[in-house]
Amino acid sequence: MTTTREYDCIVIGAGVQGSFTAYQLTKNNKKTLLLEQFALPHTRGSSHGQTRIIRKAYKQDFYTHMMEESYELWAQLERETGIQLYRQTGLLLMGPKNSQNYQDLKNSLQRNKVPMVLLTRDNFSQHIPNMKLIEGHEALVDITAGVLYADRALRSVQGQFQKLGGVIRDKEMVTNISPGPVVTVSTNAGVYRAKSVVITAGPWANKLLTNTGLQLPLQVVKINVCYWKEKVPGLYSMQQRFPCFILTEGEESSEDIYGLPSNEYPGLVKICYHMGSETDPDQRDKQTDKSDIDILQHCIRHCLPGLIPEPAVVESCMYTLTPDRHFVLDCHPTYSNIVIGAGFSGHGFKFGPVIGKLLSELTVGQVPTYDLSPFRITRFNTKTKSAL
Ligand SMILES: Cc1cc2nc3c(=O)[nH]c(=O)nc-3n(C[C@H](O)[C@H](O)[C@H](O)COP(=O)(O)OP(=O)(O)OC[C@H]3O[C@@H](n4cnc5c(N)ncnc54)[C@H](O)[C@@H]3O)c2cc1C
Repeated sequence: MTTTREYDCIVIGAGVQGSFTAYQLTKNNKKTLLLEQFALPHTRGSSHGQTRIIRKAYKQDFYTHMMEESYELWAQLERETGIQLYRQTGLLLMGPKNSQNYQDLKNSLQRNKVPMVLLTRDNFSQHIPNMKLIEGHEALVDITAGVLYADRALRSVQGQFQKLGGVIRDKEMVTNISPGPVVTVSTNAGVYRAKSVVITAGPWANKLLTNTGLQLPLQVVKINVCYWKEKVPGLYSMQQRFPCFILTEGEESSEDIYGLPSNEYPGLVKICYHMGSETDPDQRDKQTDKSDIDILQHCIRHCLPGLIPEPAVVESCMYTLTPDRHFVLDCHPTYSNIVIGAGFSGHGFKFGPVIGKLLSELTVGQVPTYDLSPFRITRFNTKTKSAL
């Protein structure tokens, strides 16, 4: 039976960004509905998996500043729920001495007074045993960085949202959005109306935006999430204080390679390439390109001699990339009561709490806490058509 329900706000997509936005809206006393196409929890978007890296190491000050608050908001959620969501491990950052990217990261950490340690070639192996620093590379550690427990975080924020009175309806795919002063959202199970709608649909953002006459320059890629076996179990574990790491692009690869200490699967270390091959989100598993794994194997043979250079487990995830790799946090150019959070470009998880706050501010018409100019839709050359 079709039902019609009225809400202040409807959030479409219960990944990390939609879940935190819905939570923030209920905190602002808005009657909020969170719609998700799949049965929760699921592994078909971008927010699943046990862990993500959290760090302040960014080239752009605006990200580092947003992370200051994000750490506080993660801690606040931990206090509210009594569940540990973050574990400090430090982030080892390595890159060619002559690389602009690495130097920009280092300078940004220094400029923003982020606690860090510069490593030298002489003391590197004392601090990071079982890892080799490539000839011509420099290294530093972003001390406060660490691991976020992703699946646990999603369950926690969705639980808090419901405790505050928010409604989650999963297994409900949004099939149509009719813009207007009151927006009508149709799903395969019902019709809902709200004063405002937030679209946080991850890799499906453009599919949903079609209903509103807007298309963003988003590229969806499939990421092979690779786990590598330790030759001696525990060698690269959190217990042994092995940090998260990022090897910035260089001769070995044109994109970053990143890793997290073994923990989630005992004896297995997650190491991935920060790029993948294009996919349709509904056909993700048809994309079978594994050229990234060759690059990772080369890196593991050179830098991580205690790992077997053959992936033991390969899982799948997706990035939704913008051309400049910055997020989209903005109101729809034609319909100001439709707010868009999209294009998190493979680095959005750590910002979840602060993005939820910003999207909620945009939704209720408050002045956003941060300058959102890097995230505006107008930076792209997009054209809008009137929605049908
Ligand atoms: C392998 C991997 C490693 C990563 N590592 C890091 C990291 O270390 N640190 C970090 O900060 N970030 C990391 N990221 C990035 C981060 O995970 C993403 O930026 C973030 O999860 C994006 O969340 P989202 O809510 O935008 O998208 P999603 O999680 O994809 O959520 C969108 C949701 O919308 C739903 N939806 C779509 N269409 C509809 C519809 N029509 N009706 C109803 N529901 C719909 C989808 O089913 C989905 O649940 C990583 C990502 C991957 C894939």
